[in-house]
Amino acid sequence: MRPFGLKSERFWDWEITIEDELGAVLWRDKLNIILSIIKVAGRAILRPRKATADRKEWRRRMKCCYRCPVYNKRRQRCRPFTGSVLGCGCYMPYAALLKETCWADDNMPEEHIGWKG
Ligand code: SF4
Repeated sequence: MRPFGLKSERFWDWEITIEDELGAVLWRDKLNIILSIIKVAGRAILRPRKATADRKEWRRRMKCCYRCPVYNKRRQRCRPFTGSVLGCGCYMPYAALLKETCWADDNMPEEHIGWKG
């Protein structure tokens, strides 16, 4: 099985990232994280072409993440370490496919480290 065209091992890596993120936040933040996952996944299922980046765009975004100081390469997560206030905490192989914007572009555009460059 290849969820959204990605290897199935990625699904288990994603689960570890979610467990990490949920363990470090308050219950209302957990609810917000779960709601945003449902929202993004629902959009991707209902309108897959509009809601997901194509392979070329996905590769471009992932290249930006690999160079980004916020990116945790070991966990492939947009947060340098658990508990950090930097990053959205997303598992990037999926988020680069489904998200519309990058955390750095939204929160520190003056640094030019995000997907917009
Ligand atoms: S801030 Fe943007 S570029 Fe950096 S890891 Fe997160 S999504 Fe990727």
